[in-house]
Amino acid sequence: MFPAAFNYLRAHNPDEAFAFLQQHGAEARVLAGGQSLIPAMRFRLARPGVLVDINAVREFAYLRNDAQALAIGPIARDSEIERAPWIRERRWSLIYDVSRVVADPVVRQMGTIVGSLCHNDPSGDWAAAALASRAEVDVRGTGGTRKVKIDDFLVDSFTAAVGEGEMATGVRFRVADEATAGSYQKLERKVGDFATAAAAVQVSLNSDGTIREAGIALSAAGPCAVRVEEAERALVGRKPTGDAIRAAADAAERKSAPQADLRGSVEYKKHLAGVLVARGLRQAFARLGVQS
Ligand SMILES: Cc1cc2nc3c(=O)[nH]c(=O)nc-3n(C[C@H](O)[C@H](O)[C@H](O)COP(=O)(O)OP(=O)(O)OC[C@H]3O[C@@H](n4cnc5c(N)ncnc54)[C@H](O)[C@@H]3O)c2cc1C
Repeated sequence: MFPAAFNYLRAHNPDEAFAFLQQHGAEARVLAGGQSLIPAMRFRLARPGVLVDINAVREFAYLRNDAQALAIGPIARDSEIERAPWIRERRWSLIYDVSRVVADPVVRQMGTIVGSLCHNDPSGDWAAAALASRAEVDVRGTGGTRKVKIDDFLVDSFTAAVGEGEMATGVRFRVADEATAGSYQKLERKVGDFATAAAAVQVSLNSDGTIREAGIALSAAGPCAVRVEEAERALVGRKPTGDAIRAAADAAERKSAPQADLRGSVEYKKHLAGVLVARGLRQAFARLGVQS
């Protein structure tokens, strides 16, 4: 199907993009990779009056990994993250895992992590990873740019904390130390499909081998990605034992609140949430050289 008629505005710098969005308010939508927005427009699920294309804004193409943070701009493509040489470092293992399983290689050539977080599909992959690694999103509004914790950014299904006339200008992941590793476990029916269930985990160890920090989040387990705080609490302060992993997995299974659909029943998906958290934790600990 063809989309409904719309006006197209191409921004060439951040101020121009922001000015277009301010000018057109509720009518306007940002066009990033277009991998979610264009299909939605073609199915007439979205009918924006104005598209503000940010793909020519060079300042938005950044992908920086410095001492403070990994910072990813709104037109940095998933494929660029996947190819970045430093992404293979253990501390970025969760991000690396996700960058290889979002959609398929063709979609990843255009799709962006920032667009995915703004779109907030309940089965999207990036939101769970952002929750597990406690990311922050920069949102530019009339009062300037504010930093929004990912837990506050993901509001509800297909709703993020970026309002009319606003835009997300990047996502930041704090640089974890050497004793940190993660894992993303996604069960999909075939390559390129959205998750039947998925779990993002990130753990950091103390020098005595106990768990200092844990981030556990699920995708396809509710209206949008969800942090499993009970699972995080079940891990922190303990050694990475089978018992600790089981406690976290059980908490994830309890927290998961998926919808039944063609990919599976509620019971099946809840069970998977626990299985995938346990698998993710075992892989993250193995990446840290710890047998669990
Ligand atoms: C065949 C196919 C398979 C897919 N499979 C998966 C999958 O397995 N897992 C997965 O997670 N995703 C999947 N996707 C979605 C894909 O990853 C999208 O690229 C992503 O969700 C959105 O990123 P985008 O840059 O394309 O955003 P767009 O489509 O351009 O935008 C999406 C929404 O976010 C808004 N937006 C974008 N950027 C900004 C910004 N900077 N500020 C404010 N609002 C903004 C747009 O206005 C729009 O409402 C799939 C897509 C396709 C076509």
